[in-house]
Amino acid sequence: MKTLPLLALSLLLGGCAGGLRFDDSQRSVDHGSRVEFIVVHYTSSDLDESLRTLKNGGVSAHYLLPAEGDKVYRMVDEQRRAWHAGDSQWRGRTWLNASSIGIEIVNRGYTDTPHGRTWQPYPPAQIDTLIALLKDIQARHGVAPINIVGHSDIAPQRKVDPGPLFPWARLGAAGLIPWPEPATVQERLRQLDGQVPGTAWFQHQLARVGYAVPQHGELDQATRNVITAFQMKYRPARHDGQPDLHTAALLLALPD
Ligand SMILES: [Zn+2]
Repeated sequence: MKTLPLLALSLLLGGCAGGLRFDDSQRSVDHGSRVEFIVVHYTSSDLDESLRTLKNGGVSAHYLLPAEGDKVYRMVDEQRRAWHAGDSQWRGRTWLNASSIGIEIVNRGYTDTPHGRTWQPYPPAQIDTLIALLKDIQARHGVAPINIVGHSDIAPQRKVDPGPLFPWARLGAAGLIPWPEPATVQERLRQLDGQVPGTAWFQHQLARVGYAVPQHGELDQATRNVITAFQMKYRPARHDGQPDLHTAALLLALPD
């Protein structure tokens, strides 16, 4: 007699799912989040156009950060897949939409002028909001710092967002991503002793820290694109895709 009300309650709550009878009384302790990566983008447009684009299909992201204020648009549930990464690869994993959360930041990106390419800066308050959001997502899903990346990290042949003005150093200072210690970089520079390593060495090191990069030892455009992506993140003052001593020291100062 004691079990009858419980049974009635479970029928009421569970409904009748195609005649299946689910029993939630035996739960496994061994499980984890499906979210392993967080990918940061810029929208290349203003807020209105960004909202239109991300609402109406074709592309989407879980979160959209306006340029001002602390409001964050939550556009796709974290449990659902959004279409922001496309053909992508990081640390050997491919097509990251299924396993990532996408954050779009309202920023116009770059403009090509007769005097060269100019980039729109990110207001510090916008990055404050982003850091708070990243910490919140990371805490809930246990995302590893090495897996908080930019679109240009996971698709360096196609994408340059969030661009060289995105302040990765602030994310490093907040403990969100791996960041080379300045003292370690200086030490590695001394160890290199003025010798720029060969292309094969750069390709090996870039793969070690996560990038999909050719391993054929030639400094082709694909390899330059990956070096550019790395430089935009860790040495944005010069991101010309040229292997140089400082880039080598930065790579050596990063953990696996
Ligand atoms: Zn993007």
